[in-house]
Amino acid sequence: MNTRRNFIRTTGLTAIAGVTAIETLFAAMKKKTAKTSGKGLILRFVPYDLQLKHTFTIANSSRTSTPDVLTSLEFEGVTGYGEASMPPYLGESVETATKFFSSLNLSQFNDPFQIDDILTYVDSVMPGNCAAKAAVDIALHDLVGKIMGQPWYKIWGFDPADTPNTSFTIGIDTPEVVRQKVAEATPYKILKVKLGQKTDREMIETIRSSTNVPLCVDVNQGWTDKQMALDMIYWLKEKGVVFVEQPMPKTAIDDMAWLTEHSPLPTIADESLQRLPDVMKAKGVYSGINIKLMKCTGMREAHQMLTLAKSLDMKVMIGCMTETSCAVSAAAQLSPKCEWADLDGNLLISNDPYRGVQVLDGKVILIDKPGIGISGIKSIF
Ligand code: MG
Repeated sequence: MNTRRNFIRTTGLTAIAGVTAIETLFAAMKKKTAKTSGKGLILRFVPYDLQLKHTFTIANSSRTSTPDVLTSLEFEGVTGYGEASMPPYLGESVETATKFFSSLNLSQFNDPFQIDDILTYVDSVMPGNCAAKAAVDIALHDLVGKIMGQPWYKIWGFDPADTPNTSFTIGIDTPEVVRQKVAEATPYKILKVKLGQKTDREMIETIRSSTNVPLCVDVNQGWTDKQMALDMIYWLKEKGVVFVEQPMPKTAIDDMAWLTEHSPLPTIADESLQRLPDVMKAKGVYSGINIKLMKCTGMREAHQMLTLAKSLDMKVMIGCMTETSCAVSAAAQLSPKCEWADLDGNLLISNDPYRGVQVLDGKVILIDKPGIGISGIKSIF
């Protein structure tokens, strides 16, 4: 927190929660950065706590906000935007991201189209820091897309009509709250149910008492016995579940391979998979993978993972953390080639400073705008 407090102090602000404060902050940073930078890419960044609409509860903790850092990358008057969303359990923070960004020398690059060289450099500066790396990667893709005047789904050759339905997550809660959340989720064509507790069957029965939409379940490594897991999957199939995400601990590789071989539903790797080399390791152990930009350092590697997974005949889900419309819109560029999307992160926060990808009748709607397709924030930077 010290870095952030110092950061706020140096800019003369006492609060950064509102958009007005953010605008002032970026104006101050722009002035300062422009003075010290020559030609080449100019990176700017600012901490921005994401305020959650509902308290987020997982096994051992609950929280009301998610630390985030917004970034921009400028080249010859054109600006791209990115962000690093850092849920505490993943080990990154505003402090680590600030340290990472401060260690970069992007002004050495005079051609933003050299995406591969630039991002290979960014990845080589320090290990880890995947969300911080994603914040640079997303801003660079947005910048290049804007210079080209094209959205990334078009640059990659994807048909925007092919976007999948996005799931809406129903967390573990009391039957009353679960029923209320299901009622709020009526526009969605698929619901993602968090399982992995003793109340799993009760959760599913509660949801089935109020809706017939297809379900997917995310067990978050919660089942430890493979036979019990298989029995549960057979039962879930009868209840209209279409796939099972991370049913067993990420270390239970042999059990997981057995489960996938016998399972009547596809199994998806989430916690057990992070970056490109993990895709090969997941082949034969899971039916598919959940790609998240904050785990895999951004759009470049996510696209590589998607391509590799498809070549291995694996299914792909594009997911997200609690994020603004910036990172969600970046992830959505890949969605036309994914079987499933779990892109509700921006809907969970109350202070999204961006407008981008929309969800209409449960389906991801890509916008024909250059880069990652976000707007409404030009005055911030
Ligand atoms: Mg998951």
